[in-house]
Amino acid sequence: EKTGGTNFLRTLIAEQIASGEHRGEVVTRFPPEPNGYLHIGHAASICLNFGLAEHFGGRCRLRFDDTNPDAEDQEYIDSIQADIHWLGFEWDGEVRYTSSYFDTLYDYALTLIDAGLAYVDELSPEQIREYRGTLTEPGKNSPYRDRDPVESRAMFEAMANGEYAEGTASLRAKIDMASGNINLRDPVIYRIRNKAHHQTGNKWCVYPSYDFAHGQSDAIEGVTHSICTLEFEDHRPLYNWLIEHLPVPSHPVQYEFARVNLNYTITSKRKLRRLVDENIVDGWDDPRMPTISGIRRRGYTPESIRNFCEMVGVSRSGGTVDAALLEHAIRDDLNTNAARAMCVLDPLKVVITNWEEGHVETLTAPGHPNRDDMGERRLPLTREIYIEKEDFREEANKKYKRLVLGKKVRLRNAYVIEAQDVVKNDAGEIVEVHCTYDPDTLGANPADGSKPKGVIHWVSATHGKQALVRVYDRLFSVENPAREEELLDGLNPFSLTVHRGCWIEPDAAEVAPETRLQFERTGYFVADRYEHAPGAPVFNRVVALRDTWAK
Ligand code: ATP
Ligand code: MG
Ligand code: MG
Repeated sequence: EKTGGTNFLRTLIAEQIASGEHRGEVVTRFPPEPNGYLHIGHAASICLNFGLAEHFGGRCRLRFDDTNPDAEDQEYIDSIQADIHWLGFEWDGEVRYTSSYFDTLYDYALTLIDAGLAYVDELSPEQIREYRGTLTEPGKNSPYRDRDPVESRAMFEAMANGEYAEGTASLRAKIDMASGNINLRDPVIYRIRNKAHHQTGNKWCVYPSYDFAHGQSDAIEGVTHSICTLEFEDHRPLYNWLIEHLPVPSHPVQYEFARVNLNYTITSKRKLRRLVDENIVDGWDDPRMPTISGIRRRGYTPESIRNFCEMVGVSRSGGTVDAALLEHAIRDDLNTNAARAMCVLDPLKVVITNWEEGHVETLTAPGHPNRDDMGERRLPLTREIYIEKEDFREEANKKYKRLVLGKKVRLRNAYVIEAQDVVKNDAGEIVEVHCTYDPDTLGANPADGSKPKGVIHWVSATHGKQALVRVYDRLFSVENPAREEELLDGLNPFSLTVHRGCWIEPDAAEVAPETRLQFERTGYFVADRYEHAPGAPVFNRVVALRDTWAK
């Protein structure tokens, strides 16, 4: 997938302003339905809408599109606001709710009825679907289509009064049952729903459809550019029809762009909810989730997400974006901005036999190889240290540039050691390696002219801190999980590996939650937002060191 990073809407609006076609402020909105947590696709929409407002010195509103009380919840309203703030955006004025326009929308419905442009239908939802026809077959008029507007008004008022049961009546715009665009075949604009609403309580038992609410809310808010994804392209004629036939205070225009999808994951709130409900993941903000809160907990920075969205660009020809591009964005950021540290994930004890018992030498290392502003780290070296199990072998060929029995290796930021002996348990497993160190090798090669090629990381067994480290992999092992017959079949069974007995250099154990570090040779990690505390370290791997993104 090519990532030109172009944004056709930015170009288009610049042209509209230059030609005088658009005058005044550019007003956009981000209109989530509060029925789940936001995901990476929403991040693209946020960056687009807030980004355009920023770019053109305009405004972007936040409006909860809360016309369907069924799946909506205050928890989602709160998380969505937190996610937008975390991404670094601030909406214009107060938070808006489509539900706060329910009175106006109800009046608009009456206006349509009085003008003979809407009628109360008593067909059942199934019949309405049947009568609507297909792409190749025109629709059929409802027997209620020519109901007298006076009667429709009285019935609609009775519906709003709770005098009709759900599914027994609905309000339909009277447009064209033979239209080539099915959305114009007398769309339902109000339906009965006997359900309390998180904002309006029990005030309403009729709720507007998405189509009836959306454009009118845009108009009420003075939105100039109403940006949505391509599946609403066919709704644009209806959007325009309603704006033309209602006494709305402004005339917004709808523009569509292609959804942003990532491979190896899903971007649908409904499917993500399933992973949460069935305990496949540890909640909406599990670090493996493509939700903004999951990505945050995984250790991504807001800047990396914004850069990612900029690299992906905005177009009308969608495609799936390679997850490696998202990883590239965070690696790029952390390579520059994450301090370095050493952490041993799978420890093997090393005893330096010629090191005096109880002696501590505090070595130093740069916080970052080329960022003086990050200062120095203190690295206490002691007689007993830990190295990675995989960094030692009794025998190995030349390609293995780590510690081998009888051979030398450099401890990162410290001395050269040589392995002399091993201690094994009854099962024959190596539990300790005995080494000697060469005191003349701090920043220098051994005097005998040997140049140990390998450098391995280590942590003092007496001064280091124990840590819990979670290494994450992709949640799905198939490229397009949404295409699987059964979503869960595509899951990667190895998406989480928990390392419990890790050892981390002492200062790194004291960082604040959400601090990001590069564990040298191991990857980029973040101190968990919730479970980490200074002195009780819990880290999540953000991403491995190696970049697989092909530029
Ligand atoms: P979902 O299927 O995940 O529920 P949605 O479109 O129904 O997605 P909304 O809450 O209505 O979710 O989305 C708010 C805004 O975010 C809409 O303008 C929508 O077009 C946009 N959006 C949602 N998903 C994506 C995506 N994958 N890429 C780009 N924009 C998206
Ligand atoms: Mg939606
Ligand atoms: Mg949805």
